[in-house]
Amino acid sequence: MAITQATLDMLTALLGADRVSIKAADLEAHAQDESFHTPHPPDVVVWPLSAEEVSAILRHANELSIPVTPWCGGSSLEGNPIPVCGGIVVDLIRMNQILEVREQDLQVVAQPGIIYDELNKRLARYGLFFPPAPGSSDIATIGGMVANNSSGMHAVKYGATKDYVLQLQVVLADGEIIRIGRPVIKSSSGYDLCRLIVGSEGTLGIVTEITLRLRIRPEVVAAVAVFETMEAAAEVIYAINRYGPTPAALELMDPTIVGIVNAWTKSTLAEAPTLVMEFHGLPAGIEQELELVEETCREAGCVSFEKGLTPPEREKLWHARKQAHEAVKQLNTGSRAEIGDIVVPISHYTEAVQKAYALAEELHVRIATFGHAGDGNMHVEMLSDKSSEHEHERTAEFNRRLVHWVLSVGGTCTGEHGVGIGKREFMPLEHGTSLETMRKIKRLFDPKGILNPGKMFPDA
Ligand SMILES: Cc1cc2nc3c(=O)[nH]c(=O)nc-3n(C[C@H](O)[C@H](O)[C@H](O)COP(=O)(O)OP(=O)(O)OC[C@H]3O[C@@H](n4cnc5c(N)ncnc54)[C@H](O)[C@@H]3O)c2cc1C
Repeated sequence: MAITQATLDMLTALLGADRVSIKAADLEAHAQDESFHTPHPPDVVVWPLSAEEVSAILRHANELSIPVTPWCGGSSLEGNPIPVCGGIVVDLIRMNQILEVREQDLQVVAQPGIIYDELNKRLARYGLFFPPAPGSSDIATIGGMVANNSSGMHAVKYGATKDYVLQLQVVLADGEIIRIGRPVIKSSSGYDLCRLIVGSEGTLGIVTEITLRLRIRPEVVAAVAVFETMEAAAEVIYAINRYGPTPAALELMDPTIVGIVNAWTKSTLAEAPTLVMEFHGLPAGIEQELELVEETCREAGCVSFEKGLTPPEREKLWHARKQAHEAVKQLNTGSRAEIGDIVVPISHYTEAVQKAYALAEELHVRIATFGHAGDGNMHVEMLSDKSSEHEHERTAEFNRRLVHWVLSVGGTCTGEHGVGIGKREFMPLEHGTSLETMRKIKRLFDPKGILNPGKMFPDA
């Protein structure tokens, strides 16, 4: 064990025995996120309740160079919170309070452990919401969303988590507690440290308090358009982006995913390329947007365009869409289900769809695709037999070649899942010499490299 009895004694004295665990079940529960990456247990799990407690843990760990990995919902898809070097997992799930709702300023101050859906449920009574809407909204916390810069269904209209973080309380590697940002919509005062921490995946500090800007809850209408080909659906996505209004969600599912989702959620969607859309605003505006989008879909030869879904129908539809990854995993238990997260500039979206299927055919890789297409984001589920190293290698090659193509057209290897373990190999190609600037920032914040080691950067 990398940590000593003296460290366990210190943690127990600080937190009490019920918030420190070396039980096998707790270590195992913090050894793996929702990804396919190899699990690795920590030496100890702790559950702090305040920034001061996090500070004391980090001060001790920093002095003794003990690895520390923050953990919130554990729903990451790239191994982001796996404690690959062991040490201490700091689980923030019990820091889950809403500290203040600033109704007049459309802001909320909350602790990192609150679950996204729970936060929005509590904000509904004020007529407010935090929009990004990750597919994992029932398990992802806002702490994890800040650390991964998560987004989701609504990013096409509202942006990602980074666009909502106004202020953060962060505990640095040496235990110093800092407050960064201002609770205002704009500020040009100094370096934007909030933007630096957002998306840093727990490698620069531990976030203990978050001030988010909110939006007013709008009227909501959903629609579903079905196409004969993926190309036709992808072309519509481009056309809507380039010429049309902005739906609040614009999701593409290929026929394979629709079939899988139907089987898993007992839905009856047509097993064809499908666009799932949502429109937010005032009724008259929504009506106009819907009309324009329907016209665009029909011009592109859509087979059907269904609108006027009732709220329960809408709920069922989104439930089905959100279950896509889980459905792939559950209905293919003999396979590894690895999920890609590429984003391309929207003018390349159709090409990206074509590229993925052409590569899959060439390399004999089983894929199914879906994603937040409206912002150029495509998730490719890549299936390989768990017992076949050869198939797994082919899948890795498929992913490598797809990401290299994506980078060549100006895209990114990850739109929302983060770098974690799985995307580290692409960092040099995506960032070039600026990766060294990122390493310098990491060394400045965390000179001993204790915070979430083994992530973000390829091994030296
Ligand atoms: C079915 C499914 C669908 C998904 N759909 C989406 C989607 O649509 N969009 C999307 O963006 N993601 C999606 N994800 C991925 C994942 O749910 C998100 O990235 C989510 O925001 C992670 O939050 P979490 O609370 O689970 O964080 P965790 O997985 O616990 O942690 C995430 C990272 O943040 C670090 N961290 C955690 N808490 C803190 C903290 N307080 N301070 C500093 N660092 C911290 C961890 O070390 C880790 O590196 C999906 C996952 C699943 C399983």
